[in-house]
Amino acid sequence: MSLLNRARIPITQTSAFLRFSAGQQQVRHLNLHEYQSKMLMDKYGVNTQKWRVISNASEAQKAAKELNAKELVIKAQVHAGGRGKGTFIETGFKGGVQLCTTPQEAERLSAEMLGKHLVTKQTTKDGTLVQKVMIAESVDPSRELYFAILMDRASGGPVLVASPKGGVDIEAVAEETPELIFKEPIDIMKGVQPEQTLRLAKKLGFTGDKVAVAQKQMENLYELFIKSDATQVEVNPFAETTNGEIYAMDAKINFDDNASFRQKQIFDMRDVAEEDPREVAASKFGLNYIGMDGNIGCLVNGAGLAMATMDIIKLHKGTPANFLDVGGGATADQVREAFKIITTDPQVKAILVNIFGGIMKCDIIAQGVVSACQQIGLKIPLVVRLAGTNVEIGQKILKDSGFNIITAVDLDDAAIKAVAAMNK
Ligand code: GDP
Ligand code: MG
Repeated sequence: MSLLNRARIPITQTSAFLRFSAGQQQVRHLNLHEYQSKMLMDKYGVNTQKWRVISNASEAQKAAKELNAKELVIKAQVHAGGRGKGTFIETGFKGGVQLCTTPQEAERLSAEMLGKHLVTKQTTKDGTLVQKVMIAESVDPSRELYFAILMDRASGGPVLVASPKGGVDIEAVAEETPELIFKEPIDIMKGVQPEQTLRLAKKLGFTGDKVAVAQKQMENLYELFIKSDATQVEVNPFAETTNGEIYAMDAKINFDDNASFRQKQIFDMRDVAEEDPREVAASKFGLNYIGMDGNIGCLVNGAGLAMATMDIIKLHKGTPANFLDVGGGATADQVREAFKIITTDPQVKAILVNIFGGIMKCDIIAQGVVSACQQIGLKIPLVVRLAGTNVEIGQKILKDSGFNIITAVDLDDAAIKAVAAMNK
């Protein structure tokens, strides 16, 4: 895993609590929708409600009738959590999780959600467009609990996390009542032990024959976690219902991208509509890209140099728009695509190319940059700092290109020039 992936901060994807618990080891994780997670849980014998998913409100009544339930729950399908307390931007309608009893109401509520942007604690202020809605049979929880499994750096393996205070923000529970969060580190070679799930089942307040049922649910979730190369399985609420059943009412599952080669079925469920389009384009060309909020686009080789470049931009009072590492052996084509991703971002007001040529030769970078300028033009200031292998050839290519490219002698010089060019 590259350093770069660890630097990613996906505010919309993982709860801050789990990010914290996992020792900040942020990596690129596939994200699934709730309905996709429920399909996976079904496969492993985790108890979930019956559901249908629709993308048009006109399908709601049919789905509701098929479920034939006394009460229905209508849920916006977005990658972010906190939907229940979310708000739809366009209408001010409150709640991405709604209860109702008739197919007509199911249709009306679906129409309130579909095509609107839902803002929650885990989305940006612009929210996420709701393109699918889940209609499920409602269960009646008597107790809302919390159960999660995640890869934990501190204990060097998976850890089970449980809390009797579920349903709500687990971040708040961790902050206000940390004594109500219980952990069981797992020896990955031995797997989860019965005494561990027994301890947690009791801490969660299960009694009588429910203890064994809860333990079995935890074991099944652990099997799902291991067999599908998950990095986190977070069930909130993990609920006991008024008729004594145990349900995983909501789940967020993330997977290790490094396992994508052996988890094809799971990775085929990826919904790129919810991902940063710049990151989607970059991953298509094998580039390491992370979008950020600033306005200086950076094209750099090597994660270390990328981080140093971002630091120096900040030192000179600029803000980076991205982190783009073309790696050690990029081709001119990849450089051109990288450059396109940066320049097509309307946020970017200046570009800084900072390359230390080693295996990656400066002339290749220069060719890629010039070819990109020829294809898409150059409308904003471009500062290039090249050093190392074939630097003279590279500089000559830039100079002969006829484009107005600002050259810099070192990192400081490059950052100062980029900030100055942008402020002109
Ligand atoms: P989140 O807000 O994105 O985490 O979505 P959840 O699926 O966790 O739903 C939020 C809250 O809505 C839950 O904590 C429950 O209190 C409530 N809720 C969700 N599903 C049902 C259901 O089937 N029946 C009832 N009565 N409440 C539900
Ligand atoms: Mg939830």
